[in-house]
Amino acid sequence: MKKIDMVDIRSQYLRLKPEIDAAISEVLDSSAFIKGPAVKAFREELAAYLSVPYVIPCANGTDALQVALMALNLQPGDEVITSNFTFISTLEVLLLLRLKPVVVDIDPLTFNIDPDKIREAITPKTKAIIPVHLFGQPADMRRIQEIAGEYGLFVIEDNAQSLGSRYTYSGGISKMTGTVGNIGTTSFFPTKPLACYGDGGALITSDPYLAETMEMIINHGAKIKYYNDIIGVNSRLDTLQAAILRVNLQNLDDFIARRQKAAEYYNDRLGSNPYIRIPKVFEEGTHIYHQYTILLDPILRDSVRNKLKERGIPSTVYYPVPLSLQKVFAFAGYREGDFPITENVCKSVLSLPIHTEMDEEQLDTICTNLLNILEHE
Ligand SMILES: *Cc1c(COP(=O)(O)O)cnc(C)c1O
Repeated sequence: MKKIDMVDIRSQYLRLKPEIDAAISEVLDSSAFIKGPAVKAFREELAAYLSVPYVIPCANGTDALQVALMALNLQPGDEVITSNFTFISTLEVLLLLRLKPVVVDIDPLTFNIDPDKIREAITPKTKAIIPVHLFGQPADMRRIQEIAGEYGLFVIEDNAQSLGSRYTYSGGISKMTGTVGNIGTTSFFPTKPLACYGDGGALITSDPYLAETMEMIINHGAKIKYYNDIIGVNSRLDTLQAAILRVNLQNLDDFIARRQKAAEYYNDRLGSNPYIRIPKVFEEGTHIYHQYTILLDPILRDSVRNKLKERGIPSTVYYPVPLSLQKVFAFAGYREGDFPITENVCKSVLSLPIHTEMDEEQLDTICTNLLNILEHE
């Protein structure tokens, strides 16, 4: 059996090698490493895929969040509400920009931000909400947009883990995640659903003013080179990565189908076990399974993880610490017990290997071992 890894980028590359290698060679031949033709082509192709007028590629998903916040012209001290259960990027950029992060608890079944908790956290200083579409499925955008409309708040969707996922409104209208709020941000880090072979990211919007502003911000605040109008950064997607992304975008729907097939296998094998809670699919969304994350009793979680490891099966805890309890955020004064749901989820989650190259033998090995371990706990 092929060795089991959390992600298997190498096998995916080998499967697509001729196309990827040709795309890379073309860039090398042209030497147009910055702002080359592949960057323009990729942004147009991604915009078409998402059915959105503007995509602004940038250097990574963390920069995308920072640039989005800069473009909204928020002022130091303005409050921004986000999920307490996510990767550090959101918190980090808010702190860098001297904005005030306000984290709130999550829905324990979908792991996404709880709209009721957003409502409770709103103050006169609240300016924006950053929902994160975690692990491959959308947050409750209908209710989040409702709250944003009611209080006049901006919405930035962190779509780093869910590009290609959809949100369906009650009328049956369906939109791609990242295209619903004022701005969507995403990452093309090698493990993400749409990935390159290094760092990359993008901003998504339907607003021409925001699109123009963000385009300037990622280019040193300049529309014309050497004429710098606003504070910017250097955050471009390089041409080599764009060329790789064009190939991967062509395959994105297939990548998603492969992940969904692996998830279905897990659901079938693990779904009826009393000690495992399989991922809940939010009914208004599609789950593209960036992660396949189960919940175990906190008493069992770490020992199950260790025993899987002893049997050569990797698993990961995304995320072990709520943002509220990260050291970098200690000055905010949050304490253990403030966010019971997130805290408990951090102690219960276990993400199993899932990627585009899994075969049934590997899935069977993982499930058989996990069920066997649980039987003996
Ligand atoms: C990966 C990720 C980011 C950051 O993306 P980078 O490209 O690594 O900077 C931000 N938010 C979430 C939810 C992510 O998963």
